[in-house]
Amino acid sequence: MKNVKIPSLVMQNKEKIPILGFGTYFLRLEDVYSSVLCALESGYRMLDTAKWYNNEEIVGRAIIDSKIPREELFITSKIEDVGYDQTINGVLDTLNKFNTDYLDLVLIHWPTNNVFDTYKALEDLVDKGIIKSIGISNFHEKLCDELLKVCRIKPQINQIETHIYFQEVKMNKYLKSKKIIHESWAPFAEGYMNMLYDDVLLDIGKKYNKSAAQVILRFFIQKDIVVIPKSTNKDHIKENLEVFDFELDNQDIKRIELLDRKQQYSSFPINMKEETNY
Ligand code: NAP
Repeated sequence: MKNVKIPSLVMQNKEKIPILGFGTYFLRLEDVYSSVLCALESGYRMLDTAKWYNNEEIVGRAIIDSKIPREELFITSKIEDVGYDQTINGVLDTLNKFNTDYLDLVLIHWPTNNVFDTYKALEDLVDKGIIKSIGISNFHEKLCDELLKVCRIKPQINQIETHIYFQEVKMNKYLKSKKIIHESWAPFAEGYMNMLYDDVLLDIGKKYNKSAAQVILRFFIQKDIVVIPKSTNKDHIKENLEVFDFELDNQDIKRIELLDRKQQYSSFPINMKEETNY
Protein backbone atom coordinates (compact mmCIF):
# COMPACT_ATOMS: atom_id res chain seq x y z
CA MET A 1 0.00 0.00 0.00
CA LYS A 2 1.30 3.42 -0.92
CA ASN A 3 1.42 5.86 1.98
CA VAL A 4 -1.81 7.84 2.11
CA LYS A 5 -1.72 11.62 2.44
CA ILE A 6 -4.07 12.52 5.29
CA PRO A 7 -5.85 15.89 4.96
CA SER A 8 -5.82 18.32 7.88
CA LEU A 9 -8.28 20.71 9.48
CA VAL A 10 -7.14 24.18 10.44
CA MET A 11 -7.83 25.04 14.04
CA GLN A 12 -8.88 28.46 15.29
CA ASN A 13 -5.28 29.29 16.17
CA LYS A 14 -4.25 28.44 12.55
CA GLU A 15 -2.40 25.24 13.56
CA LYS A 16 -3.31 22.18 11.49
CA ILE A 17 -4.53 18.84 12.81
CA PRO A 18 -4.75 15.67 10.65
CA ILE A 19 -8.38 14.61 10.35
CA LEU A 20 -7.42 10.98 11.00
CA GLY A 21 -5.04 9.82 13.67
CA PHE A 22 -4.19 6.66 15.61
CA GLY A 23 -5.61 5.97 19.08
CA THR A 24 -3.51 4.26 21.73
CA TYR A 25 -5.95 3.64 24.61
CA PHE A 26 -6.00 0.29 26.27
CA LEU A 27 -3.43 -1.23 23.98
CA ARG A 28 -1.82 -4.07 25.89
CA LEU A 29 1.74 -3.07 26.69
CA GLU A 30 3.11 -5.78 24.43
CA ASP A 31 1.02 -4.43 21.52
CA VAL A 32 1.79 -0.72 21.86
CA TYR A 33 5.18 -0.66 20.15
CA SER A 34 4.28 -2.82 17.15
CA SER A 35 0.88 -1.17 16.59
CA VAL A 36 2.22 2.38 16.76
CA LEU A 37 5.20 1.55 14.56
CA CYS A 38 2.89 -0.15 12.02
CA ALA A 39 0.59 2.91 12.08
CA LEU A 40 3.47 5.31 11.47
CA GLU A 41 4.93 3.14 8.72
CA SER A 42 1.51 2.92 7.08
CA GLY A 43 1.12 6.70 6.96
CA TYR A 44 -0.57 7.88 10.18
CA ARG A 45 1.05 11.06 11.45
CA MET A 46 -1.17 11.93 14.40
CA LEU A 47 -1.00 9.88 17.59
CA ASP A 48 -3.52 10.22 20.40
CA THR A 49 -1.98 9.36 23.76
CA ALA A 50 -2.58 10.23 27.39
CA LYS A 51 -0.75 10.14 30.67
CA TRP A 52 -3.45 7.83 31.92
CA TYR A 53 -2.72 5.21 29.21
CA ASN A 54 0.66 4.68 30.80
CA ASN A 55 2.30 3.94 27.46
CA GLU A 56 3.97 7.24 26.52
CA GLU A 57 7.48 5.84 26.85
CA ILE A 58 6.78 2.94 24.48
CA VAL A 59 4.93 5.18 22.01
CA GLY A 60 7.96 7.49 22.19
CA ARG A 61 10.27 4.58 21.36
CA ALA A 62 8.16 3.62 18.33
CA ILE A 63 8.28 7.25 17.15
CA ILE A 64 12.07 7.31 17.36
CA ASP A 65 12.39 3.96 15.60
CA SER A 66 10.06 5.11 12.80
CA LYS A 67 12.69 7.76 11.96
CA ILE A 68 9.90 10.14 10.94
CA PRO A 69 11.03 13.73 11.53
CA ARG A 70 9.33 15.30 14.55
CA GLU A 71 7.90 18.17 12.50
CA GLU A 72 5.91 15.69 10.36
CA LEU A 73 4.18 14.29 13.44
CA PHE A 74 1.24 15.55 15.46
CA ILE A 75 1.42 14.29 19.02
CA THR A 76 -1.58 14.66 21.32
CA SER A 77 -1.36 13.88 25.00
CA LYS A 78 -3.91 14.31 27.75
CA ILE A 79 -3.41 15.40 31.29
CA GLU A 80 -5.71 14.49 34.11
CA ASP A 81 -7.39 17.44 35.75
CA VAL A 82 -4.86 17.85 38.52
CA GLY A 83 -4.26 21.54 39.21
CA TYR A 84 -1.54 24.02 38.23
CA ASP A 85 1.78 22.56 39.48
CA GLN A 86 1.01 18.96 38.73
CA THR A 87 -0.04 19.92 35.21
CA ILE A 88 3.25 21.73 34.55
CA ASN A 89 5.25 18.80 35.95
CA GLY A 90 3.08 16.25 34.18
CA VAL A 91 3.52 17.83 30.76
CA LEU A 92 7.30 18.15 31.28
CA ASP A 93 7.42 14.48 32.20
CA THR A 94 5.48 13.61 29.01
CA LEU A 95 7.96 15.62 26.92
CA ASN A 96 10.77 13.58 28.43
CA LYS A 97 9.03 10.32 27.64
CA PHE A 98 8.52 11.34 24.01
CA ASN A 99 12.02 12.76 23.86
CA THR A 100 10.66 15.92 22.29
CA ASP A 101 10.62 19.59 23.25
CA TYR A 102 6.99 20.31 22.35
CA LEU A 103 3.58 18.68 22.14
CA ASP A 104 1.18 19.60 19.34
CA LEU A 105 -1.93 19.30 21.48
CA VAL A 106 -2.63 18.70 25.15
CA LEU A 107 -6.18 18.01 26.31
CA ILE A 108 -7.64 18.05 29.79
CA HIS A 109 -8.67 14.38 29.80
CA TRP A 110 -11.83 14.87 31.82
CA PRO A 111 -13.13 17.61 34.07
CA THR A 112 -13.27 17.40 37.85
CA ASN A 113 -12.93 20.33 40.19
CA ASN A 114 -9.56 21.72 39.12
CA VAL A 115 -10.40 22.67 35.55
CA PHE A 116 -9.47 26.31 35.70
CA ASP A 117 -6.08 25.88 37.44
CA THR A 118 -5.20 23.00 35.15
CA TYR A 119 -6.19 25.05 32.12
CA LYS A 120 -4.16 28.07 33.29
CA ALA A 121 -1.06 25.86 33.50
CA LEU A 122 -1.64 24.73 29.91
CA GLU A 123 -1.97 28.37 28.80
CA ASP A 124 1.36 29.18 30.45
CA LEU A 125 2.94 26.22 28.63
CA VAL A 126 1.63 27.60 25.33
CA ASP A 127 3.34 30.90 26.16
CA LYS A 128 6.61 29.01 26.65
CA GLY A 129 6.24 27.18 23.30
CA ILE A 130 5.99 23.78 25.02
CA ILE A 131 2.44 23.18 23.82
CA LYS A 132 1.14 24.36 20.46
CA SER A 133 -2.59 23.96 21.12
CA ILE A 134 -4.84 23.29 24.10
CA GLY A 135 -7.96 21.19 24.01
CA ILE A 136 -10.48 19.61 26.31
CA SER A 137 -12.07 16.20 26.46
CA ASN A 138 -15.40 15.01 27.82
CA PHE A 139 -16.56 18.58 28.45
CA HIS A 140 -20.26 19.30 28.05
CA GLU A 141 -21.69 22.56 26.74
CA LYS A 142 -22.20 24.30 30.06
CA LEU A 143 -18.64 23.67 31.19
CA CYS A 144 -17.26 24.75 27.80
CA ASP A 145 -19.19 28.00 28.22
CA GLU A 146 -17.74 28.55 31.68
CA LEU A 147 -14.25 27.88 30.40
CA LEU A 148 -14.66 30.16 27.39
CA LYS A 149 -15.63 33.00 29.72
CA VAL A 150 -12.40 32.84 31.70
CA CYS A 151 -9.75 31.43 29.39
CA ARG A 152 -7.01 33.55 27.87
CA ILE A 153 -6.23 31.05 25.07
CA LYS A 154 -9.20 29.27 23.49
CA PRO A 155 -9.55 25.48 23.50
CA GLN A 156 -9.13 24.21 19.93
CA ILE A 157 -10.69 20.76 20.30
CA ASN A 158 -13.24 18.90 22.37
CA GLN A 159 -12.60 15.15 22.22
CA ILE A 160 -15.79 13.29 23.14
CA GLU A 161 -17.33 9.86 22.70
CA THR A 162 -18.82 9.93 19.21
CA HIS A 163 -19.89 7.04 17.04
CA ILE A 164 -22.78 6.36 14.71
CA TYR A 165 -25.09 5.32 17.58
CA PHE A 166 -24.08 8.42 19.55
CA GLN A 167 -23.48 11.13 16.98
CA GLU A 168 -23.53 14.09 19.39
CA VAL A 169 -25.38 16.28 16.85
CA LYS A 170 -26.31 18.99 19.34
CA MET A 171 -22.80 19.17 20.74
CA ASN A 172 -21.41 19.26 17.20
CA LYS A 173 -23.52 22.33 16.42
CA TYR A 174 -22.45 23.99 19.64
CA LEU A 175 -18.76 23.30 18.98
CA LYS A 176 -19.06 24.63 15.43
CA SER A 177 -20.65 27.82 16.77
CA LYS A 178 -17.61 28.29 19.01
CA LYS A 179 -15.12 27.29 16.28
CA ILE A 180 -13.94 24.35 18.40
CA ILE A 181 -13.13 21.19 16.47
CA HIS A 182 -15.13 18.07 17.34
CA GLU A 183 -12.90 15.04 17.80
CA SER A 184 -14.47 11.61 18.15
CA TRP A 185 -13.13 9.13 20.62
CA ALA A 186 -14.00 5.48 20.07
CA PRO A 187 -15.44 5.80 16.53
CA PHE A 188 -16.20 2.04 16.68
CA ALA A 189 -17.41 2.17 20.30
CA GLU A 190 -14.32 0.14 21.15
CA GLY A 191 -15.78 -2.87 19.39
CA TYR A 192 -18.93 -2.93 21.55
CA MET A 193 -22.46 -2.37 20.16
CA ASN A 194 -21.79 -4.48 17.04
CA MET A 195 -21.80 -1.47 14.76
CA LEU A 196 -19.31 -3.04 12.38
CA TYR A 197 -22.09 -5.53 11.50
CA ASP A 198 -24.80 -2.90 11.05
CA ASP A 199 -26.83 -3.76 7.91
CA VAL A 200 -27.10 -0.15 6.76
CA LEU A 201 -23.33 0.38 6.97
CA LEU A 202 -22.61 -2.94 5.25
CA ASP A 203 -25.08 -2.06 2.49
CA ILE A 204 -23.53 1.39 1.93
CA GLY A 205 -20.06 -0.15 2.05
CA LYS A 206 -20.97 -2.58 -0.75
CA LYS A 207 -21.53 0.37 -3.12
CA TYR A 208 -17.96 1.55 -2.68
CA ASN A 209 -16.29 -1.78 -1.92
CA LYS A 210 -15.54 -0.57 1.60
CA SER A 211 -16.02 -2.08 5.06
CA ALA A 212 -18.43 -0.77 7.71
CA ALA A 213 -15.41 0.57 9.59
CA GLN A 214 -14.34 2.60 6.56
CA VAL A 215 -17.88 3.91 6.04
CA ILE A 216 -17.99 5.08 9.68
CA LEU A 217 -14.66 6.89 9.43
CA ARG A 218 -15.63 8.46 6.11
CA PHE A 219 -18.95 9.67 7.57
CA PHE A 220 -17.21 11.57 10.36
CA ILE A 221 -14.45 12.87 8.10
CA GLN A 222 -17.07 14.34 5.74
CA LYS A 223 -18.53 16.13 8.76
CA ASP A 224 -15.12 17.58 9.68
CA ILE A 225 -14.99 15.45 12.82
CA VAL A 226 -11.48 14.23 13.67
CA VAL A 227 -11.26 10.44 14.15
CA ILE A 228 -8.64 8.41 16.01
CA PRO A 229 -9.42 4.70 15.54
CA LYS A 230 -7.24 2.19 17.36
CA SER A 231 -6.26 -1.27 16.22
CA THR A 232 -3.69 -3.94 16.96
CA ASN A 233 -4.37 -5.70 13.67
CA LYS A 234 -2.05 -4.66 10.83
CA ASP A 235 -4.75 -5.15 8.17
CA HIS A 236 -7.23 -3.02 10.15
CA ILE A 237 -4.59 -0.33 10.76
CA LYS A 238 -4.12 -0.03 7.00
CA GLU A 239 -7.81 -0.43 6.14
CA ASN A 240 -8.70 2.48 8.44
CA LEU A 241 -6.40 4.72 6.38
CA GLU A 242 -8.07 3.86 3.08
CA VAL A 243 -10.91 6.29 3.47
CA PHE A 244 -9.80 9.11 1.21
CA ASP A 245 -10.58 7.51 -2.15
CA PHE A 246 -14.38 7.54 -1.98
CA GLU A 247 -17.17 9.92 -1.00
CA LEU A 248 -20.50 9.16 0.65
CA ASP A 249 -23.41 10.81 -1.15
CA ASN A 250 -26.23 12.76 0.54
CA GLN A 251 -28.48 9.74 0.66
CA ASP A 252 -25.79 7.65 2.41
CA ILE A 253 -25.22 10.44 4.89
CA LYS A 254 -28.95 10.67 5.66
CA ARG A 255 -29.20 6.90 6.17
CA ILE A 256 -26.28 6.97 8.61
CA GLU A 257 -27.68 9.99 10.45
CA LEU A 258 -30.86 7.98 11.06
CA LEU A 259 -28.81 5.34 12.90
CA ASP A 260 -28.19 7.75 15.76
CA ARG A 261 -29.72 6.27 18.94
CA LYS A 262 -28.18 8.95 21.16
CA GLN A 263 -26.77 6.03 23.09
CA GLN A 264 -23.38 6.18 24.80
CA TYR A 265 -21.69 2.82 25.09
CA SER A 266 -19.78 3.91 28.10
CA SER A 267 -20.24 6.28 30.97
CA PHE A 268 -16.49 6.47 31.29
CA PRO A 269 -15.06 8.71 32.48
CA ILE A 270 -18.24 10.71 32.92
CA ASN A 271 -21.40 10.96 30.96
CA MET A 272 -22.05 14.06 28.90
CA LYS A 273 -25.22 15.05 30.68
CA GLU A 274 -25.11 18.62 31.88
CA GLU A 275 -26.60 17.85 35.25
CA THR A 276 -23.47 15.83 36.09
CA ASN A 277 -21.82 17.41 39.05
CA TYR A 278 -18.07 17.77 38.76
P1 NAP B 1 -12.21 2.24 18.84
O1 NAP B 1 -11.11 2.83 18.03
O2 NAP B 1 -13.59 2.75 18.72
O3 NAP B 1 -12.30 0.67 18.60
C1 NAP B 1 -11.19 -0.17 18.70
C2 NAP B 1 -11.72 -1.57 18.38
O4 NAP B 1 -12.13 -1.63 17.02
C3 NAP B 1 -10.67 -2.63 18.59
O5 NAP B 1 -11.34 -3.73 19.19
C4 NAP B 1 -10.22 -2.98 17.18
O6 NAP B 1 -9.90 -4.36 17.09
C5 NAP B 1 -11.48 -2.72 16.36
N1 NAP B 1 -11.16 -2.28 14.99
C6 NAP B 1 -10.39 -1.23 14.61
N2 NAP B 1 -10.37 -1.12 13.27
C7 NAP B 1 -11.14 -2.13 12.79
C8 NAP B 1 -11.48 -2.54 11.46
N3 NAP B 1 -11.07 -1.88 10.40
N4 NAP B 1 -12.28 -3.64 11.34
C9 NAP B 1 -12.72 -4.32 12.43
N5 NAP B 1 -12.41 -3.96 13.69
C10 NAP B 1 -11.63 -2.87 13.88
O7 NAP B 1 -11.84 2.29 20.43
P2 NAP B 1 -10.84 3.13 21.31
O8 NAP B 1 -9.46 2.65 21.17
O9 NAP B 1 -11.38 3.16 22.68
O10 NAP B 1 -10.98 4.63 20.75
C11 NAP B 1 -10.07 5.23 19.86
C12 NAP B 1 -9.13 6.16 20.62
O11 NAP B 1 -9.86 7.23 21.24
C13 NAP B 1 -8.41 5.53 21.81
O12 NAP B 1 -7.42 4.62 21.42
C14 NAP B 1 -7.93 6.75 22.53
O13 NAP B 1 -6.76 7.27 21.91
C15 NAP B 1 -9.13 7.67 22.39
N6 NAP B 1 -10.04 7.62 23.58
C16 NAP B 1 -10.19 8.75 24.32
C17 NAP B 1 -11.02 8.75 25.43
C18 NAP B 1 -11.18 10.01 26.25
O14 NAP B 1 -11.75 9.96 27.34
N7 NAP B 1 -10.71 11.14 25.76
C19 NAP B 1 -11.73 7.58 25.79
C20 NAP B 1 -11.57 6.44 25.01
C21 NAP B 1 -10.74 6.47 23.89
P3 NAP B 1 -8.53 -4.88 16.37
O15 NAP B 1 -7.40 -4.46 17.28
O16 NAP B 1 -8.73 -6.33 16.28
O17 NAP B 1 -8.48 -4.20 15.04
